[in-house]
Amino acid sequence: MEEVRNLLIRNVIPIMNPDLMGGESADSFLATFGGYMKQIAAVAKHDSGFALYESNVAPIHEKYGDFFSTVAKITDATGIRLYAVLYTFIDSYYGVDPAYKTYNANGVVNENFVCPTREAFWAYLRSVTEELMEYPIAGVILLGNTFVRQEFCFCEKCKKEFSEVARIDEAYTWDSLRDDDQLFSKWLDWRAEKMYKAISGIHDVVKQKEGVDLMVGVDIDPEVGYEKGAFKQFGQDIEALSGISGHLLINLSPWSPILPAAGSMEYNTIVEKMRFIDNITARRRKVSFKYWNLSDEKDFETVKGIATRFKASQIVADLDFPNKYRIWREAHLSMA
Ligand SMILES: [Zn+2]
Repeated sequence: MEEVRNLLIRNVIPIMNPDLMGGESADSFLATFGGYMKQIAAVAKHDSGFALYESNVAPIHEKYGDFFSTVAKITDATGIRLYAVLYTFIDSYYGVDPAYKTYNANGVVNENFVCPTREAFWAYLRSVTEELMEYPIAGVILLGNTFVRQEFCFCEKCKKEFSEVARIDEAYTWDSLRDDDQLFSKWLDWRAEKMYKAISGIHDVVKQKEGVDLMVGVDIDPEVGYEKGAFKQFGQDIEALSGISGHLLINLSPWSPILPAAGSMEYNTIVEKMRFIDNITARRRKVSFKYWNLSDEKDFETVKGIATRFKASQIVADLDFPNKYRIWREAHLSMA
């Protein structure tokens, strides 16, 4: 935990997550590091789907059900700016619920994610957000704004709705989508539009309270194909999403987890491929960066270099790679 102090000194916003704090409580963590903090983020809706606060709409985490509320109480009393972290479509509680399960084209469920096109789930996320807005927070960070991969989602509802939109037989197959350029591009647009609407709905709730920042997480990864890959695989239209709240949070290289050294050839390639960000900041929209673990000096230099190059507002970091990292990575990178 010593490295947390370094992050704070470097002005990074660490995300407090009970999974990654080695058993340390929120109180004791803040007692140790609070003096170095101007701002902090804490998980409020966990990737397990459970709320880490006394929610009336979401299932409450058995062990950490007052984690976020404890953090909020302390940060409020000590004048630290707090960001609430909310996992949207990474949710293993609802990932097994027949109403929200997400399937690939072979009919295989991925139980760590939910279908991002379900309007009832969007309403649920808005209700969770409404509850979080009751806490003294400076902002909300949305993570997990993603389809599993391009061949998701093939649940009954998605199949039915897309077949109507595209005017094709409901029994369409993955190959029939892939083999028809026009149809395939319609598929990608349809998914991205769903994601945009879901996130916009959450923003509608956040913007009711003046001055509360909303960072919208997107995943920009070399192996996935950067901006175009995020659109194609994850349903993230970066350009459109950057306009919702005007603040994009770029998960840097989340699925290709070895960061190149600052100044190296691979580093320059990443910078070159990220130039789309200049178009976003040119319109006065904000961009921040996030990485899993910045305790390594070399990784910090890399992220710092990229953040400086693209005039980033903030650098956010998890305290470590998440528990489900391997599972998420495999889901995002493996073909159906
Ligand atoms: Zn679906």
